[in-house]
Amino acid sequence: MTRTDQLTGVRATPRRTVLISGASIAGPALAYWLTRRGHAVTVVERAGAVRSGGYPVDVRGTALEVVRRMGILPRLRDAHIDLRRLTFLDGDGGEVASVRPHAVTGGAEGRDLEVRRGDLTDALHAAVRDDVEFLFNDSIAALDQSGDRVDVTFRGGVERTFDLVFGADGVHSRTRELVFGPEERFHRYLGYCFAVFTTRNTFGLANEAVMWNTPGRAAALYAVGDADVHAFLTFAAPQPPFDAFADPRAHRDLVAAVFADAGWEVPGVLAAMREADDVFFDGVSQIRMPRWSSGRVALVGDAAYAPSFLTGQGTSLALVGAYMLAASLAGRDHTAGFAAYEHDTREFVAVNQALVGAGGATLFPTTAHALEQRNDRLRQLSAMPSAAPRPAHSALTLPEFPPVR
Ligand SMILES: Cc1cc2nc3c(=O)[nH]c(=O)nc-3n(C[C@H](O)[C@H](O)[C@H](O)COP(=O)(O)OP(=O)(O)OC[C@H]3O[C@@H](n4cnc5c(N)ncnc54)[C@H](O)[C@@H]3O)c2cc1C
Repeated sequence: MTRTDQLTGVRATPRRTVLISGASIAGPALAYWLTRRGHAVTVVERAGAVRSGGYPVDVRGTALEVVRRMGILPRLRDAHIDLRRLTFLDGDGGEVASVRPHAVTGGAEGRDLEVRRGDLTDALHAAVRDDVEFLFNDSIAALDQSGDRVDVTFRGGVERTFDLVFGADGVHSRTRELVFGPEERFHRYLGYCFAVFTTRNTFGLANEAVMWNTPGRAAALYAVGDADVHAFLTFAAPQPPFDAFADPRAHRDLVAAVFADAGWEVPGVLAAMREADDVFFDGVSQIRMPRWSSGRVALVGDAAYAPSFLTGQGTSLALVGAYMLAASLAGRDHTAGFAAYEHDTREFVAVNQALVGAGGATLFPTTAHALEQRNDRLRQLSAMPSAAPRPAHSALTLPEFPPVR
């Protein structure tokens, strides 16, 4: 007979051992739900610690129910950034329109959350750190599924065996590459590149964002509080500039060249980029895969279905995907569990990835005509009451976890 621990409701039979690669959003969220089911969870993270700081991210719709069930909703409500205004400027720095942010993002004002990425990762980490083994400064070097478990060799040289392995290691997932093949097969480049970094708020902005546009170029300053701003420089690039991605000098040079003749505050923003020590440069892309699992390995979050920041839904997909994966495994073997995860989550992913082209993407028109049309829409929006939230954000109802038997 299976003995159940009366305090935790967890079975005392041998526990499934699982390894999760990545300790950002999807990884700790999955760890939380799997430990609740009695699994012994190890998380390996390439960085030296859970990364704090970072740009603001959104938790919306179905994902709000995930964080509520995790018990971290009150903490996130306290961390909510109440972004009050989003102001659009033309090439000369003149105001085009000033709107409530939700009018553009399709969020539910008063319900959806926007928090610093670091506040979310701290809350997730705090929810699991006592129950989960964390291995920082390490990563998976090799995976072997030829036996009836998964043999893992870590970069640090240690070899261990797990029942299941999960890749929650982001858009450029190493787990995906090891199990499914090169990123090019699944990468859908959306025609833009961006650089984001932090700089001092010398612009007098507080809890607001300002975006300057010319066709194919956008410079945005995003002030959370009044001390620092997150600067975003986004530009259209028909082909991904592969040579610039891994080379910090090359991508700074590329961004500086693209914005060389720009007006408004952009020259100062470019100078700040040269000094910044946290410049993150990448192409804007989605990950689309026909399957998210193979054998005893499954992917979750950006690793499996990054929707791109143009949708603002990456964080919510990571949270919902982690919950659905753990719920799908409850009471099932991994083959049936992974099939259920894909079956029950794919539609939600698809409708959210399809938001590219709505909202965010239309913020970056590439022609003068399209920019003028966008500006007309923004002027109308500024005069209208808040629009209804986007149905895609809530297009999935979370199942309950079956009781532990
Ligand atoms: C500039 C920018 C702006 C964004 N804005 C928004 C927004 O407004 N709203 C929103 O919802 N989303 C936004 N996103 C997207 C959001 O950040 C992601 O969708 C979300 O973080 C996905 O979480 P994840 O846990 O799946 O992956 P990630 O957050 O990418 O985490 C992956 C983790 O894996 C680790 N890792 C990577 N490789 C390895 C390895 N080989 N071994 C071990 N660990 C590894 C990384 O260090 C990291 O901790 C934005 C993203 C960017 C880049």
